[in-house]
Amino acid sequence: MKKESRIIHAGLHPDRFEGVVNPPVFRASTVLAPTVAELKARHPQRFEVTYYGRYGTPTTRALEEAVAEIEGGAKAILVSSGLAAISSTLLALLRQGDHLLMVDSTYYPTRAFCDQVLTTYGIETTYYDPMIGAGIAELIRPNTKIVFTESPGSQTFEVQDIPAIAQAAHAAGALVAMDNTWGLLSFQPFEKGVDISIQAATKYLGGHSDAMLGTIATADVALWEKIKTHVCLLGHAVGTEEVYLGLRGVRTLPIRLRQHFEAGLKVARWLQQRPEVARVLHPALPDCPGHALWQRDFTGGCGLFSIELAPHQGREIPEEVVNTMLDHYHFFKLGYSWGGFESLVVPATPLRTAAPLPKGTGPIIRYHVGLEDVNDLIADLEQGFDRLARALSAD
Ligand SMILES: *Cc1c(COP(=O)(O)O)cnc(C)c1O
Repeated sequence: MKKESRIIHAGLHPDRFEGVVNPPVFRASTVLAPTVAELKARHPQRFEVTYYGRYGTPTTRALEEAVAEIEGGAKAILVSSGLAAISSTLLALLRQGDHLLMVDSTYYPTRAFCDQVLTTYGIETTYYDPMIGAGIAELIRPNTKIVFTESPGSQTFEVQDIPAIAQAAHAAGALVAMDNTWGLLSFQPFEKGVDISIQAATKYLGGHSDAMLGTIATADVALWEKIKTHVCLLGHAVGTEEVYLGLRGVRTLPIRLRQHFEAGLKVARWLQQRPEVARVLHPALPDCPGHALWQRDFTGGCGLFSIELAPHQGREIPEEVVNTMLDHYHFFKLGYSWGGFESLVVPATPLRTAAPLPKGTGPIIRYHVGLEDVNDLIADLEQGFDRLARALSAD
Protein backbone atom coordinates (compact mmCIF):
# COMPACT_ATOMS: atom_id res chain seq x y z
CA MET A 1 0.00 0.00 0.00
CA LYS A 2 1.36 3.43 -0.88
CA LYS A 3 2.14 5.88 1.90
CA GLU A 4 -0.12 8.45 0.17
CA SER A 5 -3.07 6.07 0.58
CA ARG A 6 -2.30 5.40 4.24
CA ILE A 7 -2.14 9.14 4.96
CA ILE A 8 -5.69 9.65 3.66
CA HIS A 9 -6.96 7.44 6.51
CA ALA A 10 -4.23 7.94 9.12
CA GLY A 11 -5.52 8.43 12.67
CA LEU A 12 -9.14 7.74 11.73
CA HIS A 13 -11.13 5.23 13.81
CA PRO A 14 -14.79 5.50 12.76
CA ASP A 15 -15.51 2.32 14.72
CA ARG A 16 -14.87 4.24 17.96
CA PHE A 17 -17.28 7.08 17.06
CA GLU A 18 -20.46 5.35 15.87
CA GLY A 19 -19.16 5.17 12.29
CA VAL A 20 -18.59 8.90 11.95
CA VAL A 21 -15.70 9.32 9.51
CA ASN A 22 -13.82 12.10 11.32
CA PRO A 23 -13.08 12.05 15.04
CA PRO A 24 -15.27 14.45 17.00
CA VAL A 25 -13.64 17.53 18.50
CA PHE A 26 -13.25 16.74 22.18
CA ARG A 27 -13.26 20.04 24.09
CA ALA A 28 -11.90 18.78 27.35
CA SER A 29 -10.24 19.93 30.52
CA THR A 30 -11.85 17.77 33.23
CA VAL A 31 -12.28 14.05 32.66
CA LEU A 32 -14.43 12.29 35.27
CA ALA A 33 -13.62 8.98 36.91
CA PRO A 34 -16.18 6.78 38.69
CA THR A 35 -14.02 6.05 41.75
CA VAL A 36 -10.92 7.37 43.52
CA ALA A 37 -9.15 4.12 42.71
CA GLU A 38 -9.88 4.54 38.99
CA LEU A 39 -8.84 8.23 39.08
CA LYS A 40 -5.46 7.29 40.55
CA ALA A 41 -4.97 4.22 38.39
CA ARG A 42 -5.14 6.35 35.25
CA HIS A 43 -2.14 8.51 36.08
CA PRO A 44 0.58 6.19 34.75
CA GLN A 45 -1.33 6.05 31.43
CA ARG A 46 -1.97 9.80 31.30
CA PHE A 47 -0.40 10.14 27.84
CA GLU A 48 -2.39 7.22 26.42
CA VAL A 49 -5.87 7.50 27.96
CA THR A 50 -8.02 10.60 28.33
CA TYR A 51 -6.87 11.74 31.77
CA TYR A 52 -6.83 15.53 31.71
CA GLY A 53 -7.20 17.92 28.76
CA ARG A 54 -3.58 19.06 28.70
CA TYR A 55 -2.26 15.53 28.20
CA GLY A 56 -4.37 14.81 25.14
CA THR A 57 -7.77 13.65 23.92
CA PRO A 58 -8.93 11.25 21.19
CA THR A 59 -8.84 14.28 18.83
CA THR A 60 -5.21 15.18 19.53
CA ARG A 61 -4.17 11.52 19.45
CA ALA A 62 -5.80 11.13 16.01
CA LEU A 63 -3.60 13.90 14.60
CA GLU A 64 -0.52 12.59 16.44
CA GLU A 65 -1.11 9.19 14.88
CA ALA A 66 -1.40 10.78 11.43
CA VAL A 67 1.80 12.80 11.94
CA ALA A 68 3.73 9.67 12.99
CA GLU A 69 2.52 8.04 9.76
CA ILE A 70 3.46 11.05 7.61
CA GLU A 71 6.94 11.39 9.10
CA GLY A 72 7.51 7.63 9.35
CA GLY A 73 8.29 7.86 13.07
CA ALA A 74 7.28 5.79 16.09
CA LYS A 75 5.10 8.44 17.76
CA ALA A 76 4.37 12.18 17.61
CA ILE A 77 3.53 15.12 19.89
CA LEU A 78 1.46 18.22 19.09
CA VAL A 79 2.32 21.70 20.31
CA SER A 80 0.93 25.14 19.60
CA SER A 81 3.38 26.27 16.86
CA GLY A 82 6.38 25.17 14.86
CA LEU A 83 8.65 27.28 17.03
CA ALA A 84 7.18 25.68 20.18
CA ALA A 85 8.07 22.27 18.68
CA ILE A 86 11.67 23.41 18.24
CA SER A 87 12.03 25.13 21.62
CA SER A 88 10.39 22.36 23.64
CA THR A 89 12.49 19.66 21.94
CA LEU A 90 15.68 21.56 22.79
CA LEU A 91 14.54 22.27 26.36
CA ALA A 92 13.61 18.62 26.86
CA LEU A 93 16.97 17.25 25.73
CA LEU A 94 19.57 19.86 26.76
CA ARG A 95 20.93 20.58 30.26
CA GLN A 96 23.19 23.24 31.73
CA GLY A 97 26.72 22.78 30.35
CA ASP A 98 25.56 21.02 27.17
CA HIS A 99 26.57 22.02 23.67
CA LEU A 100 24.30 22.29 20.62
CA LEU A 101 25.34 22.31 16.97
CA MET A 102 22.89 24.41 14.96
CA VAL A 103 22.82 24.77 11.19
CA ASP A 104 23.73 28.30 10.07
CA SER A 105 20.84 28.43 7.57
CA THR A 106 18.22 27.78 10.23
CA TYR A 107 14.88 29.57 10.49
CA TYR A 108 15.68 32.87 12.18
CA PRO A 109 13.51 32.48 15.34
CA THR A 110 15.26 29.13 16.02
CA ARG A 111 18.56 31.03 16.05
CA ALA A 112 17.06 33.71 18.28
CA PHE A 113 15.85 31.02 20.72
CA CYS A 114 19.38 29.58 20.95
CA ASP A 115 21.02 32.99 21.35
CA GLN A 116 18.47 34.62 23.67
CA VAL A 117 17.07 31.71 25.72
CA LEU A 118 19.44 28.71 25.72
CA THR A 119 22.40 30.96 26.59
CA THR A 120 20.64 31.98 29.82
CA TYR A 121 20.47 28.29 30.82
CA GLY A 122 24.19 27.81 30.25
CA ILE A 123 23.71 25.91 26.98
CA GLU A 124 26.17 26.88 24.26
CA THR A 125 25.34 26.88 20.54
CA THR A 126 27.85 26.62 17.69
CA TYR A 127 26.58 27.38 14.20
CA TYR A 128 27.87 25.23 11.35
CA ASP A 129 28.01 25.44 7.56
CA PRO A 130 24.91 23.71 6.10
CA MET A 131 27.17 22.03 3.50
CA ILE A 132 29.49 20.58 6.15
CA GLY A 133 28.41 16.91 5.73
CA ALA A 134 30.73 14.42 7.46
CA GLY A 135 32.96 17.37 8.48
CA ILE A 136 30.52 17.94 11.37
CA ALA A 137 32.62 15.35 13.28
CA GLU A 138 35.31 17.99 13.83
CA LEU A 139 32.83 20.30 15.60
CA ILE A 140 31.39 17.68 17.94
CA ARG A 141 32.62 18.05 21.53
CA PRO A 142 32.29 15.61 24.43
CA ASN A 143 29.31 17.68 25.69
CA THR A 144 27.57 18.00 22.29
CA LYS A 145 24.11 16.50 22.82
CA ILE A 146 22.22 17.53 19.68
CA VAL A 147 23.07 18.26 16.08
CA PHE A 148 20.15 20.30 14.77
CA THR A 149 19.52 20.27 11.01
CA GLU A 150 17.10 22.03 8.70
CA SER A 151 17.21 20.82 5.13
CA PRO A 152 16.77 22.62 2.87
CA GLY A 153 17.09 26.00 4.59
CA SER A 154 13.85 27.95 4.16
CA GLN A 155 15.37 31.06 2.55
CA THR A 156 18.46 29.90 0.68
CA PHE A 157 17.63 26.18 0.28
CA GLU A 158 20.99 24.49 0.96
CA VAL A 159 20.33 20.74 1.07
CA GLN A 160 22.23 19.02 3.90
CA ASP A 161 23.89 15.60 3.85
CA ILE A 162 21.71 14.22 6.64
CA PRO A 163 22.96 10.57 6.51
CA ALA A 164 26.61 11.74 6.83
CA ILE A 165 25.75 14.13 9.67
CA ALA A 166 23.69 11.45 11.45
CA GLN A 167 26.52 8.93 11.19
CA ALA A 168 29.04 11.36 12.73
CA ALA A 169 26.60 12.49 15.44
CA HIS A 170 25.64 8.95 16.45
CA ALA A 171 29.28 7.84 16.52
CA ALA A 172 29.83 10.57 19.13
CA GLY A 173 26.66 9.79 21.09
CA ALA A 174 24.72 12.90 19.98
CA LEU A 175 21.12 13.00 18.75
CA VAL A 176 20.05 14.44 15.39
CA ALA A 177 17.01 16.73 15.31
CA MET A 178 15.63 18.04 12.05
CA ASP A 179 13.26 20.81 11.01
CA ASN A 180 11.66 18.87 8.15
CA THR A 181 8.99 21.44 7.25
CA TRP A 182 10.09 21.72 3.58
CA GLY A 183 10.64 18.01 3.00
CA LEU A 184 7.39 16.77 4.55
CA LEU A 185 6.34 13.68 2.48
CA SER A 186 9.34 13.94 0.11
CA PHE A 187 12.03 13.28 2.74
CA GLN A 188 11.82 10.35 5.12
CA PRO A 189 13.83 11.62 8.10
CA PHE A 190 13.98 8.42 10.14
CA GLU A 191 15.24 6.34 7.20
CA LYS A 192 18.11 8.85 6.90
CA GLY A 193 19.22 8.67 10.54
CA VAL A 194 17.24 11.50 12.14
CA ASP A 195 16.08 10.91 15.75
CA ILE A 196 13.57 13.77 16.09
CA SER A 197 11.69 15.33 13.17
CA ILE A 198 9.89 18.63 13.60
CA GLN A 199 7.16 20.18 11.48
CA ALA A 200 5.89 23.71 11.46
CA ALA A 201 2.44 22.20 10.79
CA THR A 202 1.28 25.80 10.40
CA LYS A 203 2.68 25.45 6.86
CA TYR A 204 1.61 22.59 4.54
CA LEU A 205 0.05 20.26 7.08
CA GLY A 206 -2.58 22.83 8.03
CA GLY A 207 -2.27 24.15 4.52
CA HIS A 208 -4.88 26.93 4.63
CA SER A 209 -3.13 29.82 6.43
CA ASP A 210 -5.63 29.70 9.28
CA ALA A 211 -3.97 27.77 12.12
CA MET A 212 -0.76 27.68 14.16
CA LEU A 213 0.47 24.17 14.96
CA GLY A 214 3.75 22.32 15.55
CA THR A 215 4.61 18.64 15.64
CA ILE A 216 7.48 16.56 17.04
CA ALA A 217 7.92 13.00 15.74
CA THR A 218 10.47 10.60 17.20
CA ALA A 219 12.37 7.53 16.02
CA ASP A 220 11.44 5.55 19.14
CA VAL A 221 9.00 5.51 22.03
CA ALA A 222 11.61 6.24 24.75
CA LEU A 223 12.55 9.55 23.11
CA TRP A 224 8.87 10.34 22.62
CA GLU A 225 8.16 9.75 26.31
CA LYS A 226 11.05 11.97 27.37
CA ILE A 227 9.96 14.87 25.15
CA LYS A 228 6.24 14.37 25.88
CA THR A 229 6.95 14.55 29.62
CA HIS A 230 8.73 17.88 29.17
CA VAL A 231 6.09 19.24 26.81
CA CYS A 232 3.45 18.51 29.47
CA LEU A 233 5.59 20.03 32.24
CA LEU A 234 6.12 23.14 30.14
CA GLY A 235 2.34 23.40 30.09
CA HIS A 236 1.66 23.08 26.39
CA ALA A 237 -1.94 22.41 25.41
CA VAL A 238 -2.87 22.73 21.77
CA GLY A 239 -6.23 24.28 20.85
CA THR A 240 -8.97 21.93 19.70
CA GLU A 241 -9.88 24.01 16.64
CA GLU A 242 -6.26 23.97 15.46
CA VAL A 243 -6.09 20.20 15.92
CA TYR A 244 -9.25 19.76 13.87
CA LEU A 245 -7.89 22.01 11.11
CA GLY A 246 -4.68 19.97 11.16
CA LEU A 247 -6.66 16.73 10.77
CA ARG A 248 -8.58 18.25 7.88
CA GLY A 249 -5.33 19.37 6.24
CA VAL A 250 -3.90 15.84 6.40
CA ARG A 251 -6.55 14.45 4.02
CA THR A 252 -5.51 16.62 1.09
CA LEU A 253 -1.81 16.85 1.95
CA PRO A 254 -0.46 14.42 -0.68
CA ILE A 255 -2.47 15.96 -3.54
CA ARG A 256 -1.73 19.54 -2.46
CA LEU A 257 1.99 18.91 -2.12
CA ARG A 258 2.12 17.26 -5.55
CA GLN A 259 0.47 20.32 -7.11
CA HIS A 260 2.62 22.84 -5.16
CA PHE A 261 5.80 20.98 -6.20
CA GLU A 262 4.89 20.56 -9.88
CA ALA A 263 3.66 24.13 -10.30
CA GLY A 264 6.58 25.49 -8.25
CA LEU A 265 9.09 23.67 -10.43
CA LYS A 266 7.42 24.97 -13.58
CA VAL A 267 7.58 28.53 -12.26
CA ALA A 268 11.19 28.02 -11.09
CA ARG A 269 12.25 26.75 -14.54
CA TRP A 270 10.54 29.73 -16.18
CA LEU A 271 12.40 32.08 -13.84
CA GLN A 272 15.67 30.26 -14.58
CA GLN A 273 15.61 31.39 -18.22
CA ARG A 274 14.78 35.04 -17.41
CA PRO A 275 17.66 37.52 -17.88
CA GLU A 276 16.67 39.33 -14.64
CA VAL A 277 17.44 36.18 -12.62
CA ALA A 278 21.03 35.27 -11.74
CA ARG A 279 20.19 32.01 -9.95
CA VAL A 280 17.21 29.98 -8.88
CA LEU A 281 17.68 28.45 -5.42
CA HIS A 282 15.37 25.44 -5.71
CA PRO A 283 16.66 22.06 -4.45
CA ALA A 284 15.43 20.33 -7.62
CA LEU A 285 17.49 22.64 -9.88
CA PRO A 286 21.27 22.47 -10.41
CA ASP A 287 22.10 26.02 -9.17
CA CYS A 288 21.00 25.12 -5.63
CA PRO A 289 23.74 24.12 -3.16
CA GLY A 290 23.20 20.44 -2.38
CA HIS A 291 21.14 19.70 -5.51
CA ALA A 292 22.88 16.29 -5.85
CA LEU A 293 21.86 15.46 -2.27
CA TRP A 294 18.26 16.38 -3.11
CA GLN A 295 18.45 13.97 -6.06
CA ARG A 296 19.81 11.25 -3.79
CA ASP A 297 17.58 11.72 -0.72
CA PHE A 298 14.27 13.37 -1.73
CA THR A 299 11.36 12.12 -3.82
CA GLY A 300 9.87 15.56 -4.50
CA GLY A 301 9.35 18.80 -2.66
CA CYS A 302 6.94 21.68 -2.22
CA GLY A 303 6.22 25.12 -3.67
CA LEU A 304 8.84 27.18 -1.81
CA PHE A 305 12.08 28.44 -3.38
CA SER A 306 14.12 31.61 -3.89
CA ILE A 307 15.74 33.51 -6.73
CA GLU A 308 18.72 35.81 -6.76
CA LEU A 309 18.29 38.82 -9.00
CA ALA A 310 21.02 39.56 -11.54
CA PRO A 311 22.89 42.85 -11.24
CA HIS A 312 21.80 45.67 -13.56
CA GLN A 313 24.63 47.32 -15.51
CA GLY A 314 27.13 45.79 -13.08
CA ARG A 315 25.38 47.09 -9.94
CA GLU A 316 23.10 45.40 -7.39
CA ILE A 317 19.55 46.61 -7.98
CA PRO A 318 18.55 49.05 -5.18
CA GLU A 319 15.93 47.84 -2.73
CA GLU A 320 13.35 50.50 -3.63
CA VAL A 321 13.56 49.46 -7.28
CA VAL A 322 13.07 45.77 -6.39
CA ASN A 323 10.11 46.81 -4.24
CA THR A 324 8.26 48.28 -7.24
CA MET A 325 8.19 44.72 -8.57
CA LEU A 326 7.23 43.08 -5.25
CA ASP A 327 4.61 45.62 -4.15
CA HIS A 328 2.18 45.14 -7.03
CA TYR A 329 1.86 41.45 -7.84
CA HIS A 330 -1.72 40.30 -8.26
CA PHE A 331 -1.31 36.76 -6.82
CA PHE A 332 2.07 36.81 -5.06
CA LYS A 333 1.04 38.70 -1.92
CA LEU A 334 3.53 39.98 0.62
CA GLY A 335 3.49 38.01 3.84
CA TYR A 336 5.40 35.68 6.12
CA SER A 337 4.81 31.97 6.37
CA TRP A 338 4.14 29.57 3.49
CA GLY A 339 2.43 26.26 2.78
CA GLY A 340 -1.08 27.67 2.47
CA PHE A 341 -3.16 27.46 -0.72
CA GLU A 342 -2.13 30.93 -1.83
CA SER A 343 0.99 32.31 -3.49
CA LEU A 344 3.28 34.56 -1.47
CA VAL A 345 6.49 36.52 -1.87
CA VAL A 346 9.00 38.07 0.57
CA PRO A 347 12.43 39.61 0.24
CA ALA A 348 14.76 37.11 1.98
CA THR A 349 16.94 38.32 4.82
CA PRO A 350 19.31 35.42 5.48
CA LEU A 351 21.77 35.77 8.34
CA ARG A 352 25.06 33.82 8.51
CA THR A 353 27.71 33.65 11.20
CA ALA A 354 29.50 30.37 10.33
CA ALA A 355 29.69 30.25 6.54
CA PRO A 356 29.31 32.76 3.71
CA LEU A 357 25.90 33.09 2.06
CA PRO A 358 25.50 31.05 -1.12
CA LYS A 359 24.95 34.22 -3.07
CA GLY A 360 26.52 36.47 -5.62
CA THR A 361 25.68 40.14 -5.83
CA GLY A 362 21.92 40.32 -6.08
CA PRO A 363 19.04 40.47 -3.60
CA ILE A 364 17.31 37.17 -2.79
CA ILE A 365 13.55 36.92 -3.16
CA ARG A 366 11.51 33.99 -1.82
CA TYR A 367 8.40 32.77 -3.63
CA HIS A 368 5.70 30.40 -2.45
CA VAL A 369 3.81 28.92 -5.38
CA GLY A 370 0.22 28.34 -4.34
CA LEU A 371 -2.64 26.42 -5.95
CA GLU A 372 -3.64 29.09 -8.51
CA ASP A 373 -3.33 28.25 -12.22
CA VAL A 374 0.38 28.11 -12.99
CA ASN A 375 0.11 30.16 -16.20
CA ASP A 376 -1.67 32.94 -14.32
CA LEU A 377 1.19 32.92 -11.81
CA ILE A 378 3.80 33.14 -14.57
CA ALA A 379 1.91 36.06 -16.16
CA ASP A 380 1.90 37.78 -12.75
CA LEU A 381 5.69 37.36 -12.49
CA GLU A 382 6.16 38.60 -16.07
CA GLN A 383 4.27 41.80 -15.26
CA GLY A 384 6.52 42.17 -12.22
CA PHE A 385 9.61 42.08 -14.45
CA ASP A 386 7.99 44.71 -16.69
CA ARG A 387 7.59 46.96 -13.63
CA LEU A 388 11.21 46.29 -12.70
CA ALA A 389 12.40 47.26 -16.18
CA ARG A 390 10.37 50.50 -16.10
CA ALA A 391 11.73 51.38 -12.65
CA LEU A 392 15.29 50.64 -13.77
CA SER A 393 15.02 52.86 -16.83
CA ALA A 394 13.60 55.66 -14.68
CA ASP A 395 16.29 55.16 -11.99
C1 LIG B 1 7.47 28.89 9.93
C2 LIG B 1 8.58 28.01 10.27
C3 LIG B 1 8.79 27.60 11.58
C4 LIG B 1 7.97 28.10 12.74
O1 LIG B 1 6.64 27.71 12.63
P1 LIG B 1 5.49 28.55 13.42
O2 LIG B 1 4.32 27.63 13.39
O3 LIG B 1 5.33 29.81 12.65
O4 LIG B 1 6.00 28.79 14.80
C5 LIG B 1 9.84 26.73 11.83
N1 LIG B 1 10.64 26.30 10.84
C6 LIG B 1 10.47 26.67 9.57
C7 LIG B 1 11.37 26.14 8.52
C8 LIG B 1 9.46 27.55 9.24
O5 LIG B 1 9.31 27.96 7.98
